[in-house]
Amino acid sequence: MSTYANIDAFITKHLVLDLTADFDSRTLLGTAELMFERRDPGATEVVLDTRDLQVRKAEASSGGASWVDAAFRLDPATAAFGSALRVTVPRDADRLRITYASSPAAKGLQWLTPPQTSGKKLPFLFSQAQAIQARSFIPIQDTPAVRMTYDATIRVPKELVAVMAAEAAPGEKGSGVFHFRMPQPIPSYLIAIAIGDLTFQPMSDRTGVWAEPAAIAAAAKEFEDTEQMIKTTEALYGPYRWGRYDLLVLPPSFPFGGMENPRVTFATPTVIVGDKSLVALVAHELAHSWSGNLVTNATWQDFWLNEGFTTYLERRIVEAVYGKRLSDMERIIGLRDLAQARADLTVAGDRTLQPTLGDRDPDDAYSVVPYELGALFLSFLEDKFGRDTFDRFLRRWFDEHAFQSVTTAQFLEFLSKHLLSTRPGEVTEAQIQEWLHTESIPSFAVMPKSDALEKVEQARDAWLMSGSVEALALASAAWSTQEWVHFIDALPRKLDADRLSALDRRFKLTDSPNSEIAHVWFRLAIANRYTPAFPAMERYMIRIGRRKLIVPLYRDLALTADGKAMAKRIYAKAREGYHPVAQSTVDDLLN
Ligand SMILES: [Zn+2]
Repeated sequence: MSTYANIDAFITKHLVLDLTADFDSRTLLGTAELMFERRDPGATEVVLDTRDLQVRKAEASSGGASWVDAAFRLDPATAAFGSALRVTVPRDADRLRITYASSPAAKGLQWLTPPQTSGKKLPFLFSQAQAIQARSFIPIQDTPAVRMTYDATIRVPKELVAVMAAEAAPGEKGSGVFHFRMPQPIPSYLIAIAIGDLTFQPMSDRTGVWAEPAAIAAAAKEFEDTEQMIKTTEALYGPYRWGRYDLLVLPPSFPFGGMENPRVTFATPTVIVGDKSLVALVAHELAHSWSGNLVTNATWQDFWLNEGFTTYLERRIVEAVYGKRLSDMERIIGLRDLAQARADLTVAGDRTLQPTLGDRDPDDAYSVVPYELGALFLSFLEDKFGRDTFDRFLRRWFDEHAFQSVTTAQFLEFLSKHLLSTRPGEVTEAQIQEWLHTESIPSFAVMPKSDALEKVEQARDAWLMSGSVEALALASAAWSTQEWVHFIDALPRKLDADRLSALDRRFKLTDSPNSEIAHVWFRLAIANRYTPAFPAMERYMIRIGRRKLIVPLYRDLALTADGKAMAKRIYAKAREGYHPVAQSTVDDLLN
């Protein structure tokens, strides 16, 4: 279950944080007060999740009027789950206050030096709690089965701004003290904080962008359709229930594309490419406001309920706002990512919608399988029952489970009752079971098709035949990111150096400012030892910390002895700029 918390005895209902961010010692320190609902009236021990926390004091209270010291101990840590904090409490206690400090190496925090930011002058801190890293900066019941509201006071150096994925109380500018309130109950993995030289630009009444001053204008332009996306999603799946929806653009070391922190999505700057071609990421994180944040996987084994639904919703939003041409391309690229993930995974069960996690950190089983296979499953249901019926079904699923954590078994029961039974025999139980347990794509899946990408393949074939980059230039004049990525990815893995350099000279691929295009180009360069691309690739791997973009490059390099030596040399320079979760992925790969 990925947690040590004894949630059968106590459930956290509300959390109060008072934390100081100390950039010199790289620690968050202060107090976390947890208010419980008792499930076991006789219980006298509360067990919380922690990882590398320095716990200084524990106090218990009933009602919060007076506090008494409570005895506590930390169990020996395990690599996967950290260490259980056991606090002995009186029989009437309903709250606990822990005084603690996080470790400078906290897995859920990344402390950036000024040179690692866009502005280069001030430091930056951001958190990433999913899946089970909230425990590395808060002693907490760190399981998505528990939902809590919270209040937070965050103290920072006066020149910095703190943003949490919560409602901000109007504070005094330059005071260094920020107050936040999260009125909707959320699971621990959605607690998030960023501190830096952050500025805000509104995009509509309820949307806006946070970023460093140097990045804000381009971000606001790239994401200007956000309000339209929200309206589109509301029309399909019901009201947006979180108040504001803002985006916070992080420095390039952010290890993910985006993180759906409620009210404030955290996003990588690598999707800001100038033509909105990668804003499916916003559609994705926004969709989590329904699938994931509103209706949440109760365990990490049910992760597909978050990500499969969200990937399906993402493509529907992209289709409604940008057209079917783009959403079809996204579906095909998703299929290709799925095939790649299935080939890369070493634990067979991880290729299914319901992996067995056992005593593994859920992050170790992470892949796009729950995203893409889950989305294919929902597309199959949509096809069988028709879009209108399926949309109403999904809306009802969100409405009836709003602010709840749910299991796959609950979804299957709901599916059977409210969709399958409306047309008995349309979908068989055997088909449902195959979707859940197959390691491949069921033969009866409805596969996407993209005319645009078929045209790209024709252009590829023509170029491979003729070698004419000018003909290719004509064919590709209006290509988006997706089409270029598909073109490069669909080239034979072995090409001679003349061809590669002709392509490079004409289309400036080595120096592409588009991180997705550069990524597939560098993979092709590695496969062919096309050395003119390597200096730019090295700079890319040092600057960017997004796992999806860097890990495949390390993996490709590690296939040969001299490639591996090069990977290690680059990593020696890049490592300190990576987030701890990216560090541990690359550490594993190169050792
Ligand atoms: Zn997601």
